[in-house]
Amino acid sequence: MECRICGEYGTVSRFSVRETRDEIFVCDECDTGWLHADLNNDFAFDLGEYLTSKGLPIDMGQLDLVEFDPPLEPGK
Ligand SMILES: [Zn+2]
Repeated sequence: MECRICGEYGTVSRFSVRETRDEIFVCDECDTGWLHADLNNDFAFDLGEYLTSKGLPIDMGQLDLVEFDPPLEPGK
């Protein structure tokens, strides 16, 4: 789905964090992340800060792609 932060430029895909197996949604343009597929801006975070908070290096290699450009799941 389209990123709500950088608009038409970014594609948000579903990833699994290799170390924690947590699933997150990350924009490939602005590195904004979300915990839910509704992309609620109230719950958006910076990918670098997220990885740091988990004690992980800031590296896309920490993430395994689960689903490229999944559909938005509105309203949770
Ligand atoms: Zn973006």
